[in-house]
Amino acid sequence: MSKTIAILPGDGIGPEIVVEAVKVLERLQQTHGLAVELRHGLVGGSAIDACGTPLPDETMALAQASDAILLGAVGGHKWESLPIEQRPEKGLLGLRSGLGLFANLRPALLYPELVEASTLKPEVVSGLDIMIVRELTGGIYFGQPRGIRTLDNGERQGFNTLVYSESEIERIARVAFETARKRSRRLCSVDKANVLECTELWREVVTRVGRDYPDVELSHMYVDNAAMQLVRAPKQFDVIVTTNMFGDILSDCAAMLTGSIGMLASAALDADNKGMYEPIHGSAPDIAGQGIANPIATILSVAMLLRYSLAEDALAEQVEQAVRRVLAQGLRTADIHSPGTTRVSTTQMGDAIVAAL
Ligand code: NAD
Repeated sequence: MSKTIAILPGDGIGPEIVVEAVKVLERLQQTHGLAVELRHGLVGGSAIDACGTPLPDETMALAQASDAILLGAVGGHKWESLPIEQRPEKGLLGLRSGLGLFANLRPALLYPELVEASTLKPEVVSGLDIMIVRELTGGIYFGQPRGIRTLDNGERQGFNTLVYSESEIERIARVAFETARKRSRRLCSVDKANVLECTELWREVVTRVGRDYPDVELSHMYVDNAAMQLVRAPKQFDVIVTTNMFGDILSDCAAMLTGSIGMLASAALDADNKGMYEPIHGSAPDIAGQGIANPIATILSVAMLLRYSLAEDALAEQVEQAVRRVLAQGLRTADIHSPGTTRVSTTQMGDAIVAAL
């Protein structure tokens, strides 16, 4: 039976890169027997412009009815002065929480061809392959109460709440242990248990869940040390599991170890492996419309979609190999271009990957 993929291009470079990822899906439909129906929807700033809200009901209904969602990116200067509740990013957060996408898988993989693109020394990063499992629907980004209030003395005070229940910690811990089992069976849980009670509980629950996975070596690290270790000796990590905010920050740091934010995909999964797939970067308003954005992160998001939500592991592998072949041919978008390689546009990169398929 045909599966449905919701295509939500979003804003900025989102539509430019998603077009290239859709070409890949269409090629798989035409020549590799992939049975999927692609249905487009609006989210973010483009949805605000068309419908007055970053997450129209039709988009939520489409996402709920689909087996997987491919998203470009949301946001841009045009909508930055709107109240926080009406901004494009609320569309993304609404999809994540509305669909219960609590597990964010963010691989940071360094391709041998791009070792020079990293700001770290080649010997520190070559062969880097880390998977960060970030909790995505809880923690301080969603905790109540939150806001900005005025105190009796007239001074304003901003406040947010860091909150995790045992069940929230347990389910993300299980995803992380299962992920570690499919890799090299090493899991590092990152918290701030020395200062925050909430993450003291995090450490306790992760340790308890770990008893069900005796074959996985579990370690714990404070977040400040983890940030330092990521840039000092990143290859010590295999799978990292952490809270929403720590994961947000650490995964961007890990991303930069690989040279370009334009190369990295991500998945946000629910308990049944329905997922939303997107590049880890934003809408890059500074380069939108110039035809120079790197579409590889979005195309690799398609590979993750095939693997995790459609169980099409062989097709996922073929997409990843096509990306590797094109990099080996020396084709590079501007963000990863270096002397001796051939600079190509967004469309040319997409076409080359489709051809390599
Ligand atoms: P960004 O990731 O959009 O851009 C950071 C830098 O990386 C920019 O210089 C940009 O040109 C470059 N870059 C990003 N993607 C690239 C690609 N595919 N190819 C080449 N270069 C690329 O982050 P930002 O500038 O902090 O945010 C811009 C907007 O995106 C903001 O409105 C922000 O809220 C939004 N944002 C959205 C998401 C999302 O949709 N998931 C994530 C992060 C930021």
